Amino acid sequence: MYTTDSVRSIKGVGEKAEKYLNKLNIYTVGDLLEHYPRDYDIFSPIQTITSIREGEIVALEGTLARRPEMKTRGGLKILSVSLQDRTGIVPVTWYNMPFLRNSLKMGTRYILRGKIQKKRDRLVLEQPKIFGREEFYRQVGKLRPVYPLTAGITNNAIIKAVEYSLANTEDLEEYLPSEIRKRQQLTGYKKALSHIHFPSNQQELLEARKRLVFDELFFYSLVISYIKKSGRKKSMFVITEQEKVELLIKRLPFTLTGAQRRVYGEIKEDLQSGFGMNRLVQGDVGSGKTIVAVLALYQTVLCGGQGAFMVPTEVLANQHYRVLCDYLAEEGIKIGILTGSQTAAQKREGREKIASGEWDIVVGTHAVIQENVTFAKLALVITDEQHRFGVKQRENLYQKGQEPHVLAMSATPIPRTLALILYGDMDLSVVDECPSNRLPIKNCVVDTDYRPNAYRFIHEQIKLGRQAYIICPMVEEKEEMELENVTIYTEELKEIFPSDIRIASLHGRMKPKEKDEIMERFSNGEIDILISTTVIEVGIDVPNATVMMVENAERFGLAQLHQLRGRVGRGAEQSYCIFMTGRAAKDSEERLQILAGSNDGFYIAKEDLKLRGQGDLFGIRQSGENVFVLADIYEDAALLKKAGEEAGTFTEDEAALMYKKNKKLKNRIEHFLGQVTL
Ligand code: ADP
Ligand code: MG
Repeated sequence: MYTTDSVRSIKGVGEKAEKYLNKLNIYTVGDLLEHYPRDYDIFSPIQTITSIREGEIVALEGTLARRPEMKTRGGLKILSVSLQDRTGIVPVTWYNMPFLRNSLKMGTRYILRGKIQKKRDRLVLEQPKIFGREEFYRQVGKLRPVYPLTAGITNNAIIKAVEYSLANTEDLEEYLPSEIRKRQQLTGYKKALSHIHFPSNQQELLEARKRLVFDELFFYSLVISYIKKSGRKKSMFVITEQEKVELLIKRLPFTLTGAQRRVYGEIKEDLQSGFGMNRLVQGDVGSGKTIVAVLALYQTVLCGGQGAFMVPTEVLANQHYRVLCDYLAEEGIKIGILTGSQTAAQKREGREKIASGEWDIVVGTHAVIQENVTFAKLALVITDEQHRFGVKQRENLYQKGQEPHVLAMSATPIPRTLALILYGDMDLSVVDECPSNRLPIKNCVVDTDYRPNAYRFIHEQIKLGRQAYIICPMVEEKEEMELENVTIYTEELKEIFPSDIRIASLHGRMKPKEKDEIMERFSNGEIDILISTTVIEVGIDVPNATVMMVENAERFGLAQLHQLRGRVGRGAEQSYCIFMTGRAAKDSEERLQILAGSNDGFYIAKEDLKLRGQGDLFGIRQSGENVFVLADIYEDAALLKKAGEEAGTFTEDEAALMYKKNKKLKNRIEHFLGQVTL
């Protein structure tokens, strides 16, 4: 069996399983082997009920203290029982598993393993798995991989398929030059792959992860290095200065900050230089990057070119579309939008208008714009929230024939040293000043006892005409639980707040259209409290929202929390951010205090980097980025530097990848990049 074979060649994977695996973007054996665990479950022994704490995954053994009971709430079927051992009693709930009811008997001893949650100040065991004694004791003490899943396929099925593939795949040979492996003390590829799935202990896991992370960072650095070497290309689009842009700037409802002016100036110079622009605009959340993009697009269109504005989410595409229309529609500029949720007919029509040049500017999600769209005269491509796009998409862009000017915008506060490696091929502009009408956000870190006060505070803000976001606790076990979780939280909140307070929820499992509707209503002030998962993390701009409350803040990375906080403090009113911690461990407390003490993303990123040592393996992904599969630029900053150095050395010989001995390496990099050939 080879990595390029279909998953159907794996024993036990039939037509049905294949369909589900495809949903997870797993088509080949190789894809499956690169479907890394998102966590590892350490099976700890049975505990007593008195020793449980919020947030823990525990195994409890006992008998039922009362008969199973079933309720329906917000469309969910909730089954509840109580489990008792000799030390105490704990309530147990299952969502949408009504069939369990008949198999739960009084008097029988059960081993239940699941997560302890705090619900209305009571500890509850939620959604536990029921174990037989033997099955349970076989697993105690082991590290078990936990895979990203989709409905229809179980963790166990993936474990089996991976086991089979590891044992039967023939082409898992080493590809990294042995000098590099030696210098960086890296485990062999096959071993690393096998240990990342099934480590027998933490040390093995650390080493496996280090190897695979190094590869990702090394490939990435190599590509950047090659792009840089190929030098600046002459541009067909010389976009000259335009008076009309200055007139628009004068008409804006605000005065540009010095930083916005300077950055726009740098862009202007690039555009008229005769060479292709390849610039990254970095600026903290709320620093006002969008208007700079609008100006660049306007100037481009005035000179007869087309512009594309690409964003990672539909919600953001819709928001930017509205902003562009607000500023530019009156100037006679034709703006269009292209997103995944549109009908095939709408998309076709959009593509035609782009091809004919009828649309001057198109806003849309990256995926859709890159999918068979041909432009009449694409002169400028802007990608917002650049950190969301991988090197793959960037490389695709350079290959798009027409070689438009490229402007990337990112709010990820990356320390300069890292930015130079990650974006080494680009020129850097920094919007290092926020609009002067802003008051600094007031922050607090509190525990769940403070929740009633927080709700009262939110209520007061709403009475003043403001709006609030609440980020609902995340469910880690199962992505399918996201919906239940948000629904229940919303129902509970509706009972707590008076009925005239308009509460709505937003989560990743909604259709893009529904999401946009909710966002638009929130944006128009028709919703007072928006309960959301982290789907609102990037780019959303509703200046009237002044409170951000984050439940279980300890579970998020600092960078992500900073992004979330960036949703408030965008207008002239005082804004507030409440970080609520479920289980305040000392280290998370320290991290959150950094956040509470400063609103400066770059400062936070620097402190965060200082605070974390190497190998906080079970930690949360700090950046929330998906440029890399395993690597995390914060966590792996030191390794990123080394990989960058190795890539530098390797590319000193420009023909290095053409050598026969590096053929396997070349293949791997091309695989890493997607369909691109170097
Ligand atoms: P980000 O840099 O996070 O993308 P946005 O571009 O969305 O920030 O801007 C945040 C908010 O600040 C928007 O509502 C925008 O209209 C406003 N804004 C932008 N520039 C200024 C300015 N110079 N003065 C006042 N408000 C501004
Ligand atoms: Mg933005």
